[in-house]
Amino acid sequence: AHFFQSGWTGVNECTFIAVKPDGVQRKMVGEIVRRFEKKGFKLVGLKLVQASEDLLRDHYWSLRSKPFFSKLITYMSSGPVVAMVWRGLDVVKTARKMLGETNPADSLPGTIRGNYCVEMGRNVIHGSDSVESAQKEISLWFHQSELNRWEDCGSQWIYN
Ligand code: GDP
Ligand code: MG
Repeated sequence: AHFFQSGWTGVNECTFIAVKPDGVQRKMVGEIVRRFEKKGFKLVGLKLVQASEDLLRDHYWSLRSKPFFSKLITYMSSGPVVAMVWRGLDVVKTARKMLGETNPADSLPGTIRGNYCVEMGRNVIHGSDSVESAQKEISLWFHQSELNRWEDCGSQWIYN
């Protein structure tokens, strides 16, 4: 069994987060990393990548029949994205709350999409929608060797 896919539960739950091309262009990378760090989640992987259309079609496979699919692939391949893996208790669900709704107009102020964008087709950030999706997405975007195992010296002040 692969180390990073065994025991991805509890405090070891992982999610896949990506700053989309508009987020990179708009200099949102630092702000987004800051929010996840300050929340208490642990950074396990991070890279700047120009995603291929093949990768993006796999990533968004479940949306392949949607009318906006080809625009979505064009948007997501329009520049580099910052792909990240974050780990922590309930990180998948919590990250979705930190992101806001798919449509920025429905996102509460204070959330990333609520604060920093206007349209669905330029909504700055991606986050996995379930633990199962997270596992698929992490294995799609990252090689095992790119996921780092390290001791977080602050963890005893985050978990009781
Ligand atoms: P997410 O999980 O909140 O990102 O939303 P989905 O998985 O449903 O959709 C993936 C991405 O496709 C969204 O983040 C948007 O960028 C885009 N998207 C979703 N729905 C629409 C839509 O109705 N119109 C457009 N233009 N883009 C959409
Ligand atoms: Mg989604």
